[in-house]
Amino acid sequence: MKTCTKCNETKPYRAFSKDRSKKDGYKSNCKTCCNSYKGKRKKHFQEYDRVYYQKNKQQIEQRKKAYRENNKEAIAAYGQAYYEANKTEILQQKKAYKRKIRSRLSDEYLKSQIMKTDWPFGRDEITPELIERKRLEIQLHRTIKSITYND
Ligand SMILES: [Zn+2]
Repeated sequence: MKTCTKCNETKPYRAFSKDRSKKDGYKSNCKTCCNSYKGKRKKHFQEYDRVYYQKNKQQIEQRKKAYRENNKEAIAAYGQAYYEANKTEILQQKKAYKRKIRSRLSDEYLKSQIMKTDWPFGRDEITPELIERKRLEIQLHRTIKSITYND
């Protein structure tokens, strides 16, 4: 048996979640307390936020917009400072993102690849067949490359 530090009730161990960091291997609050505290409170606040936002959507968006307009320089400066301070990570993230897009060969990516080559028309004029051809072309190219490198 163990006494919960929140409700002060003494309950069998199975009423407590396991926690390796604790001496006896169990959390100090019982499952009921953990659930009602974290779960319900969180849900309650989320619901509250959602309802509040829905009700005051226009006002909130207007306030945000006004804030952005009144603080353009400060926001830009903050963004710049943030970028400078986190340059390496940001660039890495960007690279990883690009890599991800590339490996997925999404229609949008393929379109941009087609636009980069000698496509003389607009982006909207790229046909699904053309996209498919580009996809096969890139896949083939990659296969060849991987074979060459693995040898
Ligand atoms: Zn409890």
